[in-house]
Amino acid sequence: MILVPLGVSSATPTAQRHLPSMALWRDGQVFLFDCGENTQMQMLKVGMKRSKIDYIFITHLDGDHYFGLPGLISTMHIQRRERDLTIVGPVGIKEYLDFQIKFSGLELTYDIHYVELEEGFEGGTVIDEDEFTVESKPMIHNKFCLGYRLQEKDKPGKVDADKAKGMGISQDEEFKALKAGDNVTLDDGTVVKSDDIVGPNRTGKSLAYITDTRPCANAVELASDSDILVYEATFGNKLKDKAEETRHSTADEAAKVAKAARAKLLVLTHFSARYTNEFLLYKEAKEVFDNTWIANELRAIYTDPKTEGGMFKPVSFKSKDDFKKGGRSSSKDRPDNKKSGGSFKKRRMRPRKGGSGSSSSSSSGGSRSSGGSSFSKRPTGKSSYYKSDSDDRRRSSSSSKSDRNDRSEKRDYDSTRGKKVDNDSKPEIKPRNNFDDYDRF
Ligand SMILES: [Zn+2]
Repeated sequence: MILVPLGVSSATPTAQRHLPSMALWRDGQVFLFDCGENTQMQMLKVGMKRSKIDYIFITHLDGDHYFGLPGLISTMHIQRRERDLTIVGPVGIKEYLDFQIKFSGLELTYDIHYVELEEGFEGGTVIDEDEFTVESKPMIHNKFCLGYRLQEKDKPGKVDADKAKGMGISQDEEFKALKAGDNVTLDDGTVVKSDDIVGPNRTGKSLAYITDTRPCANAVELASDSDILVYEATFGNKLKDKAEETRHSTADEAAKVAKAARAKLLVLTHFSARYTNEFLLYKEAKEVFDNTWIANELRAIYTDPKTEGGMFKPVSFKSKDDFKKGGRSSSKDRPDNKKSGGSFKKRRMRPRKGGSGSSSSSSSGGSRSSGGSSFSKRPTGKSSYYKSDSDDRRRSSSSSKSDRNDRSEKRDYDSTRGKKVDNDSKPEIKPRNNFDDYDRF
């Protein structure tokens, strides 16, 4: 199994972190745990196909954990998906998505199968497939919240083919019988025992995904002996009161759950935006539970690095130099481009049209600076909304005084912007206090 953290922030995204989502890859299938904004773009960045998602598990209905769903569902529709998609989550998730789909006038090319769990649910198996099961239990948060555990079923042991051949086994059917646990009698009467040829059952791997909760018995039970425990560490020890008040956990509490559950690896996630460096949280957890890891966006975690290692790596699409060359990425950054062969052709760009009129570039508006053309098709009124039914009115009033003022303001802004671009200097970014907007959960 390969776990790829897609978003590790809590509540609000920051410049470095996205909203909660973890993708689990196993045997070609992708399972999403939570689906915050940007989930699908993050998947693109790591080279994970959205079409491979078969199951989405939503912990609770706080926006940061599921607002990425409508966009993702729409993308799957545009990609003409046909396979069913299963979404598991608290009651309400279907109503929310039905509204989004209806409001957008979508007639999905595929069916969504919902497994909705309602308050009062005490825990149990929510998905049972041939190769794995998913169990869910309620957590302790300020609204109904679910934890999940994906458990692979045990696989039959490996067949020692050389030993089997040495003992006279040659037919496929005989191998199958041995693998299924049956003994095989050869023509000469020799009995080949399954136990001699087939190794012990291989234990299935497991992942527990627990977030937005106080530490609780259900969390420990779900995480019991798990290979990977993803657990929230919204706060550090100093803010334990805040963790209690908002019903979250501290890094230290995450580690205590991992220890009590005898998890093999603890992966911390869901960091408050106030921690610009998660090392503090890592340190606090590590003191209690040694095998602690900080979830790094797009850095994959492997349960079997020998066979899975390197399958998902962050893909770099464009560098600054590529933009200078003409806006295309270099051939080495495009692994799927077969015909580039290392040569690079400069792209011819169509010259920009000047002027504000959409039909003619020689209208009176054409006298504005070239940098202003980017605004030429935007509404010129004060409202930032672009409603099509008011287009005509807007055009007819384009010579009014207030409108001219608006345009001259934009021209000034544009000319400044144009200058900055010409000088190839970076736009000014005023530093902000990290706590400005993020002090709420
Ligand atoms: Zn959250």
